[in-house]
Amino acid sequence: MPDSERLYYSDPFLKSFSATVVGDREASGQERGLVWQVSLDKSAFYPTSGGQPFDTGLLRATSAAGSSVEIPVEQVEEDDAGRVWRFIQQPLAAGTQVEGQIDWIRRFDHMQQHTGQHLLSAVFVRELQAPTVSFHLGEETSTIDLATSAIAHHSLERVERIANEIIGEDRPVTISYASRVEAEAMLASGELRKLPDREGAIRVIDIADLDRNACGGTHVRATGQIGGLLIRRLEKVSRGVRVEFVCGLRAVRAARVDAAVLTETAGLLSTGAPELPGLIRQMLANSKSTAKERQKLREELATYQAAEIVREVSIDGGLRLIVRGWKDRDRDFVKLLASRAAAAAVSTVAIFRAEDADPIGVLLARSPDLKFNCGSIMKEALASLGLRGGGSPDLAQGEVPAKDEAALRDLVMNAVHREIAKQRAGTD
Ligand SMILES: [Zn+2]
Repeated sequence: MPDSERLYYSDPFLKSFSATVVGDREASGQERGLVWQVSLDKSAFYPTSGGQPFDTGLLRATSAAGSSVEIPVEQVEEDDAGRVWRFIQQPLAAGTQVEGQIDWIRRFDHMQQHTGQHLLSAVFVRELQAPTVSFHLGEETSTIDLATSAIAHHSLERVERIANEIIGEDRPVTISYASRVEAEAMLASGELRKLPDREGAIRVIDIADLDRNACGGTHVRATGQIGGLLIRRLEKVSRGVRVEFVCGLRAVRAARVDAAVLTETAGLLSTGAPELPGLIRQMLANSKSTAKERQKLREELATYQAAEIVREVSIDGGLRLIVRGWKDRDRDFVKLLASRAAAAAVSTVAIFRAEDADPIGVLLARSPDLKFNCGSIMKEALASLGLRGGGSPDLAQGEVPAKDEAALRDLVMNAVHREIAKQRAGTD
């Protein structure tokens, strides 16, 4: 069976058409309830190809009872044999007459992005000798991959400005056909930018005095209909540089979102958008020095408070054992307190708790004259409760559920007493 006539080849502005269903088949493994596929003798629905996504729309048919039914077309794909299939949610038999109608808002948007891609690729070649190796038209933005190592910011701005000047010049975009031999000659002379690896007549898309490219996609009539082009972002990829861009209303939407974000951010900081980078840089520097100052104060406070705590607890049996907990201090501060308390006086052991959350943070620190290993004691005590933790010889930490905290404390205290007794026996 011959492939359906692709009406968009000669008239990309055709929005509706009459056709006959010439093939129908059950679709397998399709999501969204798209159970049936039909092929038509002619069609304006564009199938996914060349980086441009498929069209959607409607097929209007007359039922056996004489009433009109509207069947949404939700996907259009070309099979390996080059035949185009429209995916629908209900069976539609061969021989049925249908009126096809494409979703024009979606299609025109694709035409703007696609023609914008021809324009942008051509300007990149002309201005920066950077050829396009691939194109992707996405839901939100489009990308082209350029075979180049890097693009300077000022070069990117220049390419964007030139592309928009050409849009303003409203240059005609025309379709013509060339034989394979003619197209190869054009490619060799540099007249044609790209040639697909395909048999038969070659469809050539021409942007007046700028670009000639073999392409089967849909394009606008003149560059003015691209409506504007905005480059969004550059990204390094394995084969070069990926350029993200938007055209037409997509460019307006993207710029609107940016403007809203900038306005809100500037409002929060009571400044204008142009002042934002300088102000934020200054705020980051301030916050860094504030954090430094805060850390210094915390350390001073810990040293001062640790000395107080040590003074409050007297030595009993040769050991100053300080057991304390805080609900309003974070773990790092309690850890700082434990190490400062242990350093403040000889024969001192601190068993501190940070009770700001459950599990509770438990710290064990000792003064340098006590030779036992805090890390091993903590590790063993936690292990006997099925928990993990440890530390260095003079400072260890662990986390314990609030219900097991008393048990852990007893284990640690007993171990400390054992070690002290051992140390004494060794020195006597
Ligand atoms: Zn094209």
